[in-house]
This record gives sequence, structure tokens and C-alpha cells, in this order.
Amino acid sequence: MKKWDVKDIKDWGPGRHEIGAIIPEAGNAKDYRTGGWRTNRPVRDDDKCTQCLFCYFFCPDSSVKVEGQKVVDFDYDHCKGCGICAQECPADCIEMVPESEFRKVSE
Ligand code: SF4
Ligand code: SF4
Repeated sequence: MKKWDVKDIKDWGPGRHEIGAIIPEAGNAKDYRTGGWRTNRPVRDDDKCTQCLFCYFFCPDSSVKVEGQKVVDFDYDHCKGCGICAQECPADCIEMVPESEFRKVSE
């Protein structure tokens, strides 16, 4: 496998590489907030949840947080809001809610 020479990565930019075209290290998405463009976020009803973990297995972004074999939250820094978890939940306890409902009102 080709090994990238990233010694001068701090000098990389649009003059040398097209913006967004370079992923020098595999698996680095966890280091960035990739959920920033989500338009709807999953919200889980804990009372209805049966802890079947379907949402965890189906999520393509590993954004369902599990502790002690139980779903505890979503990783909103990386969740893209695709809605697959809500679609696959057999208990129908995940609702996709518009992000606008979570924005702070400044006044
Ligand atoms: S798929 Fe639904 S019922 Fe199953 S763990 Fe996830 S939220 Fe709970
Ligand atoms: S909305 Fe998509 S990315 Fe977010 S937790 Fe559900 S399946 Fe994962």
C-alpha cells in the first residue's frame, strides 16, 4: 500500500491540492466534526426502546453510543442525520427532528 509523505502537511492547501481531495490517513473522520451539515437529528424515546441494538448495527457512521450493551445516546458530532436508525428501529422509538428546533434563540 502506498504510504503518504505528510511531513509538510501544514503547508498543504488549494495551491498544491484541490480542497477536500486529500485524506492522508485512513480512519481520521473521528478527529473532525463531520455531522455539521445534518438537517435532521435522531431523538430516541428511552421508555419505548427495547435495547435490541438494531440502530447500532445499521448506523453507517458508528454514531449510536452504546455503554454496557445499552444504547445511551447518539454521537451528534458525527451523525449525518440519514435516518436509517429511525427507519430500522422495530419499536418505532426514534424520531428525526429538524435541527432548527435545537438552535438557541438569541433573544
Ligand atoms: S433500534 Fe430502536 S428499540 Fe432497538 S435499541 Fe435502537 S432505539 Fe432501541
Ligand atoms: S441518523 Fe444515520 S448517522 Fe445518525 S445515528 Fe441514525 S443511522 Fe447513524
